[in-house]
Amino acid sequence: PERLLDLRDLAVTFATAEGPVRAVQGVSYHVNRGEVLGVVGESGSGKSVTVRAIMRLLARNATDTGTIRFAPDGEPLTLSGQPRDSKLMRSLRGNRIGMIFQEPMTALSPVHSIGTQIARTVLLHRGGSKSAARDRAAELLARVQLPNPGEMLDRYPHQLSGGMRQRAMIALALACDPALLIADEPTTALDVTTEAQILDLLRGLQKDLGMAIVFITHNFGVVADIADRVAVMYLGQVVETGSVDDIFYAPGHPYTKALLGSIPRLGAAKRHRLQTIQGMVPDPYHIPKGCPFHTRCDHVRPGLCDVTAPPVFSPRPGQEVRCHLTGGAA
Ligand code: SF4
Ligand code: MG
Repeated sequence: PERLLDLRDLAVTFATAEGPVRAVQGVSYHVNRGEVLGVVGESGSGKSVTVRAIMRLLARNATDTGTIRFAPDGEPLTLSGQPRDSKLMRSLRGNRIGMIFQEPMTALSPVHSIGTQIARTVLLHRGGSKSAARDRAAELLARVQLPNPGEMLDRYPHQLSGGMRQRAMIALALACDPALLIADEPTTALDVTTEAQILDLLRGLQKDLGMAIVFITHNFGVVADIADRVAVMYLGQVVETGSVDDIFYAPGHPYTKALLGSIPRLGAAKRHRLQTIQGMVPDPYHIPKGCPFHTRCDHVRPGLCDVTAPPVFSPRPGQEVRCHLTGGAA
């Protein structure tokens, strides 16, 4: 498989009045062309910060190191080190990389009609005539299955229901046929039925358009629905990666197992928040030494797990686990 996005050793630190917060440490993951990577973890695990680093949209008090490569059209482009407003990033965002969020109004402007917003994005990145851009907008609104797309063009975001606004935001993100769609908890605020519909829609679009998706969620049920591969994050680190089948049927990391154990049944997993693991998530100012999960792990080996960072072990091709147990040392 061909790598579309490749993160190596990404680290993000925020300077705060209370001291540095290491939000992301040593994160490496990749997304192949046309596949869905589910990134799962509790809030504060660094999932969103990681994609903000990819988009070069980190807050001003953040610094990051590591390598981010993105290859939408042949030769990989290096995104790491790019300033937020670089020509490269302005040409990629909304074009070869689309973004959708939990709150559609993060992406949509309240003062312009849906049609105007989509047409503007098309004109900005693709040029052409105004009427062709408007036709494209109507075509996109039909693609996301909004009723009466011709009439929807002139609607303002506040005139739409929550689920319809999500669809409009998806249409905007797809305006220029992105190679990569970054989806940050886009269904978390929706009721279960609407969530299922939006996930269905995204899966269908992903297959039809051949785009890749990084899908961020705290919900393992959603991961089971949409992902081809999974990266599990805890306290700013990736603790396990693998195919969706390996992660669900042969998880290697105690944290992944605990998350899966906290789901009553896969079918019933919708809306289930990952909060039933013993202990508290340590605060981000004091990330534990050694394995970040050692303060909550049932299998912790004192003198090892709380001292030494665990090695990466690969139980089977394509699956990687960061734990002393699977690494054979314990
Ligand atoms: Fe648990 Fe140790 Fe493995 Fe961390 S390295 S998950 S503390 S057994
Ligand atoms: Mg988040």
